[in-house]
Amino acid sequence: MLKIGLTGGIGSGKSTVCKLFAELGVPIVDADVIARQVVQPGQPALRKLAETFGQDILDAGGALHRAELRRRVFADARLKQQLDAIMHPLIYAEIDRAVQHLRSPYGIIAIPLLLETGKRYAVDRVLVVDCPVETQLQRVLNRDQISREQAEAIIATQASRQQRLAAADDVIDNSATPASLAERVKSLHNSYLFLANARNT
Ligand code: ATP
Repeated sequence: MLKIGLTGGIGSGKSTVCKLFAELGVPIVDADVIARQVVQPGQPALRKLAETFGQDILDAGGALHRAELRRRVFADARLKQQLDAIMHPLIYAEIDRAVQHLRSPYGIIAIPLLLETGKRYAVDRVLVVDCPVETQLQRVLNRDQISREQAEAIIATQASRQQRLAAADDVIDNSATPASLAERVKSLHNSYLFLANARNT
C-alpha cells in the first residue's frame, strides 16, 4: 500500500484535510490517536515511562498525567530525547500494524511532527498542508483557549514553513476557503490512485 505521510503545522488544517480524504473512502491512520493508545493504563509503554520519569507522571488512577510529563521534558532536551526514544518506536510499530490491516491502494498516515522527529517514520510521499503563519495563528486562536504568545511558542518549536515546503512531495494550499480544499483533495486522490496502481503493475 502506498503510504502518504500527511503533516503540517499546528492549525494548518490537517484534520480538515483528513476528513476530506476519509469522505472519499481513504483510510486514515492517525499518529496522535495511536500515541494516546500506547500509553493507556496496562500498556507496556506506560510502565516504561513511569520507570524512566518517576511515578509522579501517573495520576491517582494510574493513568498518564500528561501535563506533568510535559512539564518535566519541556525544559530538558535530554529528557525529551529519552521520551521520544521510548515513544517513537512504539508508535511506528503500531502505525505499521494498522497499515498492514488496510486493504486499499493508498492510505493517509497523519503525523503532525513527521518532519520534526529525528528518526522519521518512513512514508512513500510527504503531503504538507500549508498556510501562512498568520493564518495558522488566527485559526488556532479562534479554536483553542490559548494566548497568541502560547500559540507563537508552539509554532516556534515546529519545523518552519520553508522546511516543510522543502520536504514536501505534494502541498495542499489551505490559505483559502475550505470549499476550495475539496477540489484539491479530489485531484490528489486521483494522482495517488494512479501512483498506487502504477506501482502494482
Ligand atoms: P492541529 O495541529 O492543532 O491538530 P490541524 O492542522 O488539524 O490542527 P484543523 O483542526 O483542521 O488543523 O484546522 C484548524 C482550525 O482552522 C479548525 O478550527 C478548522 O475548522 C479551521 N480551518 C481549517 N481550514 C480552514 C480554512 N480553509 N478556512 C477557515 N478555517 C479553516
